[in-house]
Amino acid sequence: MDGLTGFRLWAVMVMVATLGGHVIYFGFGTWLYRRYYVARRDRAAEWKIQSRWVPDKLHRWGIRVAAVNMTIGGALSGTFAYFYMTEGVSQLYLDVDEYGWTYTLVSAVVLYVLVEAAAYYTHRWLHVRYMFKRFHQWHHRVVAPTPYITVTMHPVEFTLLQLTAFLPVFVLPVHAVAFIVVLVYNLLFNLMDHSGIVMEHRLPWHSSSRFHDDHHLHFHCNFGQSLDWFDRFHGTHRRHGRRYGKDVFGGHGEASAPGEQPGAYVEY
Ligand SMILES: [Zn+2]
Ligand SMILES: [Zn+2]
Repeated sequence: MDGLTGFRLWAVMVMVATLGGHVIYFGFGTWLYRRYYVARRDRAAEWKIQSRWVPDKLHRWGIRVAAVNMTIGGALSGTFAYFYMTEGVSQLYLDVDEYGWTYTLVSAVVLYVLVEAAAYYTHRWLHVRYMFKRFHQWHHRVVAPTPYITVTMHPVEFTLLQLTAFLPVFVLPVHAVAFIVVLVYNLLFNLMDHSGIVMEHRLPWHSSSRFHDDHHLHFHCNFGQSLDWFDRFHGTHRRHGRRYGKDVFGGHGEASAPGEQPGAYVEY
């Protein structure tokens, strides 16, 4: 970016971030959608998690909202990159020798867990009755999500989630490439976890795509992003024998029969 300064540098950063985000989101999302929803529509029972389909009009609304949010995301990420390049804001670093390889790799894992923690607690707060009805309900309008619905949410909520994902790198020194890898990893897995397609992921720490799909089906449980650790710790992981639904707030469900004890966790 030599020679670019001030407003022009900022504009280039925003354009690159916005374009990159849209290409990943709509490129990968469309690839998944065409591979399953178009090519294997008549064999949905083989791959689809839920038997219900999102109505066309709601789906189109969801895609428009997602496009607006990905543009907001590009503006925020590009602005962050601009201030990092010009003012050195945050604890990101570019030279591995500054901290060594061991620290660089361990801090990348710590960053991933911190972003997961931020996502869990922010998401849990969004399920408090007021926040849910005021903002988060937008994301829950689609009960059977498709890849395109991943960032369909109130723009205020999207901005909040973006900002909380940036927070850890203001306290923890992390290599800039590791930060980008964690952000892209989360976007790709969020797309798969909203795909509505049965996916096991084959990563020992990662729940299957049913975990977040169940969050859309049952509303107030399974708040984690790609890890279910925080849900297990707080007892908000979906359990057998509990009743969940749009009006059952709190994250622990209700007993199906009076006095009934919570059953074991559903395995994903
Ligand atoms: Zn939610
Ligand atoms: Zn979701």
